[in-house]
Amino acid sequence: MAISESSIVYLLKLLGEKRDVLITTHYNPDGDAIGSSLALYHFLLSQGIQSKVLIPNELPSFLQWMPGIQSTVIYSDNTDEGNALVASADLIFSMDYNALSRVKLFTDQLRTATATRIIIDHHIHPENEFDLIFSETTVSSTSELLFQIINEAGLSGCINKEMAECFFVGIMTDTGSFSYACNRKETFEIAASLISTGIDVERIHRMVYDTYSESRMRLLGRCLETNMKVLPEYATAYIWLTKEELEEFNYQQGDTEGVVNYALSIENVAVAALFTERDDRVRVSLRSKGEFSVNEFARKHFNGGGHRNAAGGDVFKSMTESLAWFESLLPAYSNEIHKSLANYK
Ligand code: 5GP
Ligand code: MN
Repeated sequence: MAISESSIVYLLKLLGEKRDVLITTHYNPDGDAIGSSLALYHFLLSQGIQSKVLIPNELPSFLQWMPGIQSTVIYSDNTDEGNALVASADLIFSMDYNALSRVKLFTDQLRTATATRIIIDHHIHPENEFDLIFSETTVSSTSELLFQIINEAGLSGCINKEMAECFFVGIMTDTGSFSYACNRKETFEIAASLISTGIDVERIHRMVYDTYSESRMRLLGRCLETNMKVLPEYATAYIWLTKEELEEFNYQQGDTEGVVNYALSIENVAVAALFTERDDRVRVSLRSKGEFSVNEFARKHFNGGGHRNAAGGDVFKSMTESLAWFESLLPAYSNEIHKSLANYK
């Protein structure tokens, strides 16, 4: 992985000049989105720079303990304040997303903002909307990339416990607790150096993964027992959740996090999908094993994207139609999916 020296020089120059710094991340933020944004917030503080973190919508409860979270602004609850922050900023960071549309609720405001724009991200194909681009797809997470940027800038000495907790959450959640996207030794070296700041990684793991509500656990039961279809002929499994079911289980933001991975963890399944019904669309979450790219698949059919093995998108059909349509797409990919599975073993 290469972070160019000139990018670091330019970043430090901007940080020396700009006074009004805004950190933004994507809609439905996950552990890496929040982890990398808050790590940057704490890093800037350590450099004497005050910043604001603007998050499009509500956070999952398993991230609400994170250091610095109380100083963030949720756009959907504070639209006027959010708009004012975007308009007045002279430097805007885009953390963990590759296209301005991924913030969803203030895309136009970002597009017309006068601020200098910096992207720090690990998704492929970053949009051409940024003045400074740190984009690297080989890293586990945006958090890992930010750590490396700070390290390359010679400033890793400022990494304190708060920052380390944020970095660790980002890396841990984007690798499924170090089980995928983590074959590079650097990921573990960074984790080790985070641990040396004194963070309690077992506690962090508990706070993120062992804090299910009873209804979230029972929702998972519904998904696995009655709402999952396995299609061995296409090495594919999918799960669906209707709006009524989400209500029945008192759905809270983040409750379906990780559900799609259960379908993928079935032997001889190489593609997994989760369909979640929203007011005006069906949200699709896709995962794959091996070289089959759900990123391409999501781009082509679901108006979405992501990474090779984890992507998302939307379908503007009813749930029944969405599932039937998904099944109808599979025959054309059957060979590719089976090949991916065979090579993966
Ligand atoms: P998830 O299934 O966890 O929501 O998303 C998996 C990955 O796909 C994440 O890295 C996320 O950034 C990306 N992703 C999810 N939804 C979309 C989307 O609608 N558009 C794009 N471009 N990426 C998405
Ligand atoms: Mn990420």
